[in-house]
Amino acid sequence: MTCESCGADDDTVYPVHRMYVTPADWDTEGREVVLDEVERWCYACCTHYPHRPASAGGS
Ligand SMILES: [Zn+2]
Repeated sequence: MTCESCGADDDTVYPVHRMYVTPADWDTEGREVVLDEVERWCYACCTHYPHRPASAGGS
C-alpha cells in the first residue's frame, strides 16, 4: 500500500478525507474544508495532518 499524502510504502494505510484548516485571524473566522474524495494515508500522515476518518470500503 502507498500513502497518497507522502508517497511512502506502508503495510497499513487509513482511508481519510483530507481537511484544509484556515486558522482564525483578527479579521477572519477560522474555517475547515473537508474534501469528499477519500485518500489513503499512512499513520505518520494521519498524526501530522488534519483529516477526517472515512469509513473503509463502501461508497
Ligand atoms: Zn504518509
